[in-house]
Amino acid sequence: MANVTSKLLSDRAAQLFPPVAGRVTQLGIVKAEGSYLWAEDGKRCLDFASGVGVTNVGHNHPYVIEKAKEQMEAMVHPGHNVVYYPSYIDLAEKLVQLNGGNHKVFFANSGAEANEAAIKLAKKATKRPGIIAFKRSFHGRTLATTTLTASSAAYRKDYEGLLPSVYHAEYPYAFRSGLSEEEETKRCLENLEEMFSFLITPDQVAAIILEPVQGEGGYIVPPASFIKALREICDQHGILLVFDEVQSAFGRTGKMFAWEHFGVQPDMITLAKGIANGFPLSALVAKEEIMNQWPAGTHGGTYGGNPVSCAASLAVIELLEKGLLDNAVKMGQYFMDRLHELKQTYSDIKEVRGLGLMIGVEFLQEDGKPNVNAVARLREKALEKGLILLSCGVDRNVIRFMPPTTVTKEEIDQALDIIKSSLTEIYA
Ligand code: PMP
Repeated sequence: MANVTSKLLSDRAAQLFPPVAGRVTQLGIVKAEGSYLWAEDGKRCLDFASGVGVTNVGHNHPYVIEKAKEQMEAMVHPGHNVVYYPSYIDLAEKLVQLNGGNHKVFFANSGAEANEAAIKLAKKATKRPGIIAFKRSFHGRTLATTTLTASSAAYRKDYEGLLPSVYHAEYPYAFRSGLSEEEETKRCLENLEEMFSFLITPDQVAAIILEPVQGEGGYIVPPASFIKALREICDQHGILLVFDEVQSAFGRTGKMFAWEHFGVQPDMITLAKGIANGFPLSALVAKEEIMNQWPAGTHGGTYGGNPVSCAASLAVIELLEKGLLDNAVKMGQYFMDRLHELKQTYSDIKEVRGLGLMIGVEFLQEDGKPNVNAVARLREKALEKGLILLSCGVDRNVIRFMPPTTVTKEEIDQALDIIKSSLTEIYA
């Protein structure tokens, strides 16, 4: 494994708490630029993980850094609870505009915090207790978002007795259920109806929260008919529809937000990760009439909407609008086509799926069971050859590709060469 003797790594392993020390890639990184990371020994790695889908416009994009620096020199923290400042207002305005107007924005620092805010606001606005989330979802690791999260029982173990009135419904996964998209949508909607009959009546449900494309759960794109049906169910019963777009927004799927693919707009959307390309920031964007239900001063935090993060975010959005969204679409298609070709050679690659540059490749063994081993070995071999990859899926048998929207054809080819030679060794 590359750099196991790294000084940074051994220091880190000794000092950090186990969940981080146990899972990090075995690399000590000292520099990042575009699609690349540099290890302390000078080794250059192609990064197709983008800090887990954060650096969507490439590491240290010079324009983002320039705008953040300008802001840093002007002021770092006047405190949004005390005064207003331009980058905060400009970004809020931009996010409202991107969501079609008539929305309001609450800024926080992490995805989990934005989701916490969404649940609190849904309860406040509807005066109802229930929340419906989905199996295989990931919404964060605070206590309330751990309750929503259902992509691994390990996240919940020893914390049971979490937030009350949270129920998990079925999310379409036609590839694994073996049903057609239509039948799979029907199955999941029937499951929801059953919940309304046996567990909680719809008039007790404040919100339905979902990732419009499941991330940690396996890079699963649901049929548009499912998303449309959820919108109808919410409208019928006065339930708020919340999209957690922490992983799927800001160019990841080739659009600013994944909801644009489905033509269905939620009542609230939560954003983080790619929003500021690595500067800590998250946002809850909610329809005006919903956000207005929050009495002033009853929800907030000290750091949300930091001026430097907001300035960085404005730069990210500008870059995406001025060409990087287009590049994400083009490069996403190119990468997807090449991965489909690869699927012809390796019979364990059973599905290549995704939108834009949010691409999942699922490995199953001949007997149909998840091929966890192949995915683990591919990650390890690719890393040795200088390519960083992440896995996902409840069985960790899916490779998730999330290169930056700045990625070039040459970089994709370079990644594919490494993947091919790794797979040749694994299946030798
Ligand atoms: N929602 C989704 C869809 C995510 O992918 C993540 C992080 N993987 C989160 C929420 C949590 O975000 P954070 O780690 O910033 O709290």
